[in-house]
Amino acid sequence: MRTLRADVAVVGTGAGGAVVAKELAEAGLRVVVVEEGAWHPVETLTARPRDMLVELYRDAGQTVTIGSPPIVLPLGRAVGGTTLVNSGTCFRTPGRVLARWRAEDGLDLDLDLDFDRVERELNVVEVPPELAGRNAELVRRGAAALGLSGGYLRRNVRGCVGSGVCAYGCPAGAKQHAGATYVPKALAAGAQLLTGVRIRRIRTGRGGAVTGIEGDGVRVDAPRVVLAAGAIHTPALLAANRLGRSPALGRNLSIHPATAARARFDEEVVLWDGVPQSYFVDALAGDGIMLEGIAGPPDYLAMATPRHGPEHRELMLDARRLAQFGVMVSDTARGGVRSARGRPLIRYDLAPADATRFQRGLELLARIWFAAGAREVVVPVAGVPPLRDGGTGPLRAARVRPRDLTLMAFHPLGTARASADPARGVLDPDLQVRGTSGLYVGDGAAVPSSLGVNPQITIMALATRLAGHIACRV
Ligand SMILES: Cc1cc2nc3c(=O)[nH]c(=O)nc-3n(C[C@H](O)[C@H](O)[C@H](O)COP(=O)(O)OP(=O)(O)OC[C@H]3O[C@@H](n4cnc5c(N)ncnc54)[C@H](O)[C@@H]3O)c2cc1C
Ligand code: SF4
Repeated sequence: MRTLRADVAVVGTGAGGAVVAKELAEAGLRVVVVEEGAWHPVETLTARPRDMLVELYRDAGQTVTIGSPPIVLPLGRAVGGTTLVNSGTCFRTPGRVLARWRAEDGLDLDLDLDFDRVERELNVVEVPPELAGRNAELVRRGAAALGLSGGYLRRNVRGCVGSGVCAYGCPAGAKQHAGATYVPKALAAGAQLLTGVRIRRIRTGRGGAVTGIEGDGVRVDAPRVVLAAGAIHTPALLAANRLGRSPALGRNLSIHPATAARARFDEEVVLWDGVPQSYFVDALAGDGIMLEGIAGPPDYLAMATPRHGPEHRELMLDARRLAQFGVMVSDTARGGVRSARGRPLIRYDLAPADATRFQRGLELLARIWFAAGAREVVVPVAGVPPLRDGGTGPLRAARVRPRDLTLMAFHPLGTARASADPARGVLDPDLQVRGTSGLYVGDGAAVPSSLGVNPQITIMALATRLAGHIACRV
């Protein structure tokens, strides 16, 4: 067994782990950070979906929830974690969410300085209209015609060329993901990175204090451990080690379920040309419904289209005239993760109220597209025919049940929630696992609830705060 010693051992190099590793290494602590995935230099990122899905994602991106409906929940597995394959959208935690955390979980978080720091590190900038793509322009045009609020998204990029393949790694090296920003800075400050190592054991000693981690022939002895394996794997790791034994462990999973609708236009759209997620409409954000761009290269379109044979061929021949956009819901349902023979099983049932929100969001999107000149809108709701002639009647009249929707989700959160109330929180407000001193959680698992916006910089801001807390106590 190879044994290393550190002041802090960090598990995972995604949005949470990379930030903690860099901040603590720069504070002068000996940091060892362990990642199950591999390091992917930019020249190996080919942007071909069928190759990159296997290389950069866990289970080739086919992680699925059990429930109604089953939901594909892709997770990154690489240096940079899921930030390597994400769309780069950056939203700060909305004020209404922080207020809820204060009221329900006694968390009084002022994250402004942490957000400032994260956004500086990641170079968060607004998408320039010339890179946003025609797919976004059509939604901008339609939303403007209906007087709906929206805007170009803020993203962590430097030199983005709008190649449209963010979900398969960025071959231009433009995306400022955690593996390209925080991890190199952590290493420059002396942190040690082990890749291809899956941590299975969390070691504890006298009085229940953490003493280190172990897995795949590697052991790291450390008086502080930060788990940042993501909201699916962190609770499974805790449960497998009989730690964090709170009734809340593995529960309270929110995922921001999302779906994509398509529209046919007479004009060319070329949805793979431009930043895939470049524009949003937040007219229904107060009701937990966000419209955000979602696009990808033609191979992705071909794979993601639930048709086959001549129908599939006909659709692909018209692919240049297709538009696509996403609807994301701030979910009220809560799922759970449990560990079965070392693998997490994810259970999630969409709430009927959230199905109704999808119906509202999709109807608004259809109206936006029709206002922009769409000939036909296809919504991912079983039993609803393609909408034509500017009318959304068949969608409005439908009784949309959870099982009628085709969904994906990209934002698992909350499975080891922080709360001042021990009955609700696996973690205390300083993100320490109750009952195990020195053991912390610094990833999406700690986030108390769904946010209604994309979570990466919320996780990074919380991780920055956690690193400051640990550094002050060493
Ligand atoms: C396609 C896609 C697009 C997205 N787009 C956006 C976006 O535009 N904006 C946004 O804000 N969010 C986006 N997200 C979500 C965002 O990337 C995640 O919320 C965020 O990265 C989660 O951070 P994390 O630290 O919790 O986990 P991750 O970033 O997933 O990192 C966890 C890491 O831990 C490693 N790990 C797991 N178990 C172990 C173990 N036992 N031992 C060692 N290592 C382990 C994993 O391999 C992984 O690298 C997107 C997600 C996806 C899938
Ligand atoms: S649009 Fe292309 S260049 Fe820009 S971040 Fe995404 S993959 Fe990189």
